[in-house]
Amino acid sequence: MRMIPPGSWLGLLGGGQLGRMFCMAAQSLGYRVAVLDPAADGPAASVADRHIHADYLDPAGLARLAALASAATTEFENVPAAALDFLSKSARVTPGAASVAIAQDRISEKTFLSGHGFAVAPYAVLREARDAANAGEALLPGIVKSARLGYDGKGQVRVKTRSDAAAAFESLGRVPCVLERFVDLACEVSVIVARDESDAVTTWPIAENRHRDGILDVSIVPARVDAGLASRARALGTELARALDYRGILCVEMFVTRSGELLVNEIAPRPHNSGHYTIDACETSQFEQQARVLAGLPLGDTGQHAPAVMVNLLGDVWYDNANASARREPAWERVLAHPRAKLHLYGKHEARRGRKMGHVTCLGDTLDEALATARAVKRDLGIPGADELA
Ligand code: AMP
Repeated sequence: MRMIPPGSWLGLLGGGQLGRMFCMAAQSLGYRVAVLDPAADGPAASVADRHIHADYLDPAGLARLAALASAATTEFENVPAAALDFLSKSARVTPGAASVAIAQDRISEKTFLSGHGFAVAPYAVLREARDAANAGEALLPGIVKSARLGYDGKGQVRVKTRSDAAAAFESLGRVPCVLERFVDLACEVSVIVARDESDAVTTWPIAENRHRDGILDVSIVPARVDAGLASRARALGTELARALDYRGILCVEMFVTRSGELLVNEIAPRPHNSGHYTIDACETSQFEQQARVLAGLPLGDTGQHAPAVMVNLLGDVWYDNANASARREPAWERVLAHPRAKLHLYGKHEARRGRKMGHVTCLGDTLDEALATARAVKRDLGIPGADELA
């Protein structure tokens, strides 16, 4: 595997917070990063060594990136496969277009997973209204999810009956969807996996994820599941990365059912919000590992040196209450008065409700200590759910 030496340029497609944290990690290894992002002033572009301000399929922009970078990666799954293919003619590209294409579409993702023996929630594909009318009773109650471009709970409708499912299919614009059975969840977990060109694989301790309004609210690591289930989840991540012949960082989100089954919910071909804790709590972060895979460097150790609770900071934190329209500066000094609370802000200029603006990772000698700090941080910032965080 050819090593790309520090000092070289690495390319990144996409300019959000995942890209920003990738830039920072790659730069601390001595690389220069060129970001191709159509937005003028995104979180990654503002820290990158160069911003190529162009659309993902703009031939001139892609050619500039290809001329500069010996290797390129992405930070969002909806990157056009054609852009990755173009770059792969002259550069190492991780992940490859084929893996990204599978993760871009729930139908191809579920087909791949079930075809390779990975358990998923029971589902049916909806391509026309009559598919909803014909759906099996065993899939209800369920959730209709659009196959493409859904994230953070968007493009999803909960349904109780076949006619609800047909109405949901209409309301989502008659685009291809899946109807998925509503699973009785004990909890949700995720595993981050890194795999390199020579099939070396690392996984990090699994995260227990709690969502609020469809958006990740908190990740608790290590997840409070039995050790056997945690190692099954990590092994599943490794097998999945191999089945996909994946290169780079992959996140596998899973449901843990009340009967102890592990079902794959979805996969993300990139670092993931539930892996942000690795920056402060692990020997090697998911972003540093992304840079290592890309540059052909050995993978770093993924051991966790402190229990951690990651709390997401949405734009809502900038407003006093649900009805307020005036922004105010959140009480950062109170957050940082907890010495083991690590604040990460993404440099976004506009705090919109529901928009991911940053996160705080709370460390502790014990998980209870980290949880207590996370509850305090939630109260300091007026984030709902402090009392439920136990
Ligand atoms: P997704 O966008 O598919 O990750 O769904 C967002 C969230 O909705 C998940 O993290 C779960 O909390 C919930 N959810 C989605 N699908 C199901 C399901 N089949 N059964 C129960 N909860 C679900």
